[in-house]
Amino acid sequence: MKIFNTLSRSKQEFVPLEENKVKMYVCGPTVYNFIHIGNARPMIVFDTVRRYFEYKGYDVNFVSNFTDVDDKIIKKAIEECVTSDEVSKRFIAECKKDMEGMNIKPATKHPLATEEIDGMVEMIKTLIDKGFAYEKNGTVYYRTRKFEEYGKLSHKNLDDLRSGERSLLVTGEDEKEDALDFVLWKPKKEGEPFWVSPWSEGRPGWHIECSVMSKKYLGEQIDIHAGGEDLVFPHHENEIAQSEAANGKEFARYWMHNAFLNIDNHKMSKSLGNFRTVREISEQYDLQVLRFFMLSAHYRSPLNFSADLMEASKNGLARMVNAADSLKFLIGNAKSDAMSLAEKELFAKTEEFVQSFERAMEDDFNTADAVAAVFDLVKYTNTNTNEESSKTYLQMLLDRLVKLTDVLGLLVDKEEDILDAEIENLIEERQAARKARDFARADAIRDELLEKGIILKDTREGVQWKRA
Ligand code: AMP
Ligand code: ZN
Repeated sequence: MKIFNTLSRSKQEFVPLEENKVKMYVCGPTVYNFIHIGNARPMIVFDTVRRYFEYKGYDVNFVSNFTDVDDKIIKKAIEECVTSDEVSKRFIAECKKDMEGMNIKPATKHPLATEEIDGMVEMIKTLIDKGFAYEKNGTVYYRTRKFEEYGKLSHKNLDDLRSGERSLLVTGEDEKEDALDFVLWKPKKEGEPFWVSPWSEGRPGWHIECSVMSKKYLGEQIDIHAGGEDLVFPHHENEIAQSEAANGKEFARYWMHNAFLNIDNHKMSKSLGNFRTVREISEQYDLQVLRFFMLSAHYRSPLNFSADLMEASKNGLARMVNAADSLKFLIGNAKSDAMSLAEKELFAKTEEFVQSFERAMEDDFNTADAVAAVFDLVKYTNTNTNEESSKTYLQMLLDRLVKLTDVLGLLVDKEEDILDAEIENLIEERQAARKARDFARADAIRDELLEKGIILKDTREGVQWKRA
């Protein structure tokens, strides 16, 4: 399997640190608003990377944080006259809803920066002890000149950057030894959330959060560290400087970065007023369509969001879902069980599509080509099945289709979402709740089922249900 590594600027064969295991960290969003469709790109892309590793039999430890202390969160809290904690908790919950809609698996662990402050204080202490950090008036800075490899990820000319940064120095940071030194800890301002530290009552810088959370949940060395390309510099460059100086070993072996998502060929930004949240998209489309759209391009190519492309994605997804539906219909009406010899041969030919799917994914996760391979399989099943096909043959084709679309996180067989037995259990629980006059619970169960496409009908004979 080949991965484009930002560190070497080349595709490299993936060799895990530990056999059959992948330790992966993806920088998560800052939670001060609903996530936008740009944030959704790394979420969908790296969830697909994870799913492919799992398909290949790897055990993936996938960690993705929420940055829940930040200037933007504090600003929003002040605007709304609530605590920062309230803002971040609310948008973490909303983000998780969007993730579910996009069929993004929950991470093995979603650490919160505010719950990991002790670890950050510890790492900052280590950096000071080793001479990689210094304190000035309650602020702690990282001493970039001391870390010889500073700049190895972003391949930037540091002297140019230094002279550029001199003129851009943030007020209050003129005490820095070097323009590229960055904040590890800063003192609180009036009314801001703070934690006690040996240097001041204050809060950590953004970069130290990820170094610490990655170390705590994945260890000092990890296989893959990922995020959007805007994070290469300074965020990831700084994470490398912190982690490698503190731990004395290489931090991540492979650095993966997705390209940006634009809207109608413009950069998405609040000031241009072309900012779209995932939640807004969900009012118009099933979020599966958004997922399909994201995967229709290679993750390192810029992607342009437009109404036309979303319509094309909707149709593309429908072709896959229709193929699965048609197979299911034929399975339900099949006259014979056992596969014929001719069907065995026909099925064997679908191996070719699996191979081209895998070839595409092995080549730095080329999901665009992987989607094309699924379409080839769809076309093949549409032309090589009919009312005479055996149940076994049809089922094997369906299983193959589901297995591949599942790697892409596309649900073509939605009924698998909820099994008959689960429905029956929930209905029983609802009846019990009604008996106990707990109508709130009873209604909540009805709504939960409705969300999953299950419609209940109360009749004299009892509760009947059907799939919408
Ligand atoms: P943020 O909340 O800004 O820290 O962003 C969370 C993640 O979304 C990071 O990995 C960013 O690189 C990524 N991201 C933000 N905007 C875009 C965009 N327009 N296209 C692709 N990725 C983005
Ligand atoms: Zn990060």
